Amino acid sequence: MALMSPFDFLPAARGLPRTPGRPCLFMNQDGTLVEHAANRVDPLLLRLRAGAGEALAQLQAAGVALVIVTNQAGLANGRITRAEFARLQQVLLQRLQDEFGVRITGVEVCPHSPDSQGRPACLCRKPAPGMLTRAAHRHGIDLSRSWMVGDTLDDVEAGHRAGAAGLLLDNGSETVWRRSPLREPDARFFDWGALATYVEKLAGGAEREPPRWPSQSLHGAVQA
Ligand SMILES: [Zn+2]
Repeated sequence: MALMSPFDFLPAARGLPRTPGRPCLFMNQDGTLVEHAANRVDPLLLRLRAGAGEALAQLQAAGVALVIVTNQAGLANGRITRAEFARLQQVLLQRLQDEFGVRITGVEVCPHSPDSQGRPACLCRKPAPGMLTRAAHRHGIDLSRSWMVGDTLDDVEAGHRAGAAGLLLDNGSETVWRRSPLREPDARFFDWGALATYVEKLAGGAEREPPRWPSQSLHGAVQA
């Protein structure tokens, strides 16, 4: 079992100067936002995790951008086609909007396979930070005031490598527990409700610092 992450040669982005931008909750999809399912192709079998929709609505109202970042090696190895994946995403985003009024700011997908050791062979597969930095650029996100939440330590590490905080939503998915400072969660939760309360509080704390965005955007609906 390797103790080193394949990305340990990269400097962590923490400590970089702050740049203007909005706070964001980056979230893993399978196992975090939606339940793991044996059949990952049929949209009718898509199940949101308990409390996820309500939590995202709460954070959206607090002015937090919401971005899905998902490793989808199935696209590379043929377990799911691009058309099937696009259909699933469409159903997921529509349900979040219809049932909870949640508008997801962006979706970033890594369609690449890991190498034979299971390590990322691209710059975007988590625990690499590529999807987060790409989304930050696209959507004007301040990574230093953002969080990455997932159900494995690879998600936590990806958040840290991007310069964000890393939160673990512990549902038993993580079984390896390969530890390193970059994989140490800033906080650990067992349900979406507690996580939303935590993030909302910190996002509100950021609001008390010199404003970096028009104040009305904190109180109205934040557009994607
Ligand atoms: Zn990739």
